[in-house]
Amino acid sequence: MSQQSSSVEVAIIGSGFGGLCAAINLRKRGIEDFVILERRSFMGGTWFQNRYPGAAVDVQSALYSLADEPYDWSQLFAEGHELRDYTQKVIDKYQLTDKTRLNWTVGQAEWLEDSQCWQLTRDSGERVTARFLINATGPLSTPVTPDFPGRDAFQGASFHTNDWDTSYDHRGKRVAVIGSGASAAQVIPAIADEVGELHVFQRTPHWVIPRPDYVFKPWQRRLLQNRGVYHLLRKLIYWALEGRVLGFKYSKTILNLVARRRAIKLLKRQVADETVREKLTPDYTVGCKRIILSDTLYPALTRPTTQLHDKQNGIARITERGIVTQQGQTIDLDLIVYSTGFDATDGLISYPVYGRGGVALRDKWATFPRAYLGTAVPDFPNLFIVTGPNTGIGHTSALFIIESQMLYIMGCIDRVRRKNSKSIEVRPDAEESYTRHIHSEMERTVWKSGGCNSWYQSKSGHVIAMFPGFSFTYRRWTNNFRADDHRIV
Ligand SMILES: Cc1cc2nc3c(=O)[nH]c(=O)nc-3n(C[C@H](O)[C@H](O)[C@H](O)COP(=O)(O)OP(=O)(O)OC[C@H]3O[C@@H](n4cnc5c(N)ncnc54)[C@H](O)[C@@H]3O)c2cc1C
Repeated sequence: MSQQSSSVEVAIIGSGFGGLCAAINLRKRGIEDFVILERRSFMGGTWFQNRYPGAAVDVQSALYSLADEPYDWSQLFAEGHELRDYTQKVIDKYQLTDKTRLNWTVGQAEWLEDSQCWQLTRDSGERVTARFLINATGPLSTPVTPDFPGRDAFQGASFHTNDWDTSYDHRGKRVAVIGSGASAAQVIPAIADEVGELHVFQRTPHWVIPRPDYVFKPWQRRLLQNRGVYHLLRKLIYWALEGRVLGFKYSKTILNLVARRRAIKLLKRQVADETVREKLTPDYTVGCKRIILSDTLYPALTRPTTQLHDKQNGIARITERGIVTQQGQTIDLDLIVYSTGFDATDGLISYPVYGRGGVALRDKWATFPRAYLGTAVPDFPNLFIVTGPNTGIGHTSALFIIESQMLYIMGCIDRVRRKNSKSIEVRPDAEESYTRHIHSEMERTVWKSGGCNSWYQSKSGHVIAMFPGFSFTYRRWTNNFRADDHRIV
């Protein structure tokens, strides 16, 4: 067991956009004494990890990109390979490879009161100490695979969409996709005409609206090379998407007029069979679960080689050869794809974190995960959680939120360093009042009152994965440091 140890000013855990953005911001302010710790053998997070066929972003790429890093996107909604190219370009531009230790899974973080720093322990026993700790382990990086009876008995291939085996040839095979969320809606149309048989197990249908994708013409791409034009497009997209909050939070009438009507129209146009249409019609308010953007999902679900199994004929058990449904149908399979999502709430940070006096973050979050600005927790000095509780966003780009968090995080780090202090910590009453406000605002949102169960909710029933408001409100909060809310030691 290696017991090496090293010390840095800032440790960043995770090399997705959250970690990269933190590293870029440190570099921009001349802080070079930092390290990125990444558990995988590669950098880049989400788009390097999620390599399933059809993976693509659901937010227009000019907005789903870092504000200072425009890119020559080939289409409005970039696909996985282009998102990987973009991420790699950012990594290369800021020379972040040398700053990253790969295969470095953080197994534990502990605040050392005497030396006022964080000690991170790798699974192998190696240690890193750091004055500041930026956790950027991702909101959707802990995949969930339900424990179906007999799951491990299956003798064919099986994997989660998050862990797609790119060496597996699915062509001509008998495949089951379990799940009907955002990843399933991308993978199903991408493989439907390549596999021999496709069985889709859907517990709850999602509302689906058309995906307004568009491949840029060469002259448009040339025009978008101009920074001013790119930023204008970015702004137009931003404000168009921000309008969605009016529906999600303030008016179900708007939601029904804008989204439900389009969803029903698409369903009627693409699904002729009334029984299938019924199976695909959700019984909860549109927006309560993530709205799917797709023109290709319904045609894939209605192919002669596809069978849709709804919750009336769900999975009873998994056997060596395949799946037995609740109605007793035996389905022989070569591949089971788990498109069953992530633990975005209670399991937000997957390793143990011990703060001042040995208090465990897990205990602090026993009722539900909570943090000031979704980023700072009392008793956990100098710890910043990127994409923490209630920073998720359904209507716009997660990168806008990450960049907003950086304003707060870097502001805190600058303050401690400027004053030659040791640590900064949010006051308990400030966190309490912030969290109370967030959850009282949440009451009026469709995620709380839309009549569905979703991955946005923790076991406690609190909606944890979403920010209940306009993203510009969050940006304003993160940009306005409140000294009274903090204790600087
Ligand atoms: C399939 C998919 C589609 C998505 N589509 C959209 C979209 O359309 N629009 C949108 O706004 N958002 C989307 N998201 C959300 C996405 O998570 C964010 O956009 C963004 O990529 C989050 O970046 P991150 O750096 O916080 O997390 P990630 O990109 O997940 O990076 C986290 C990194 O931390 C590493 N890590 C985790 N635990 C440890 C540990 N213990 N030790 C060391 N390293 C660790 C992981 O290996 C990973 O590299 C999508 C997510 C998924 C999974």
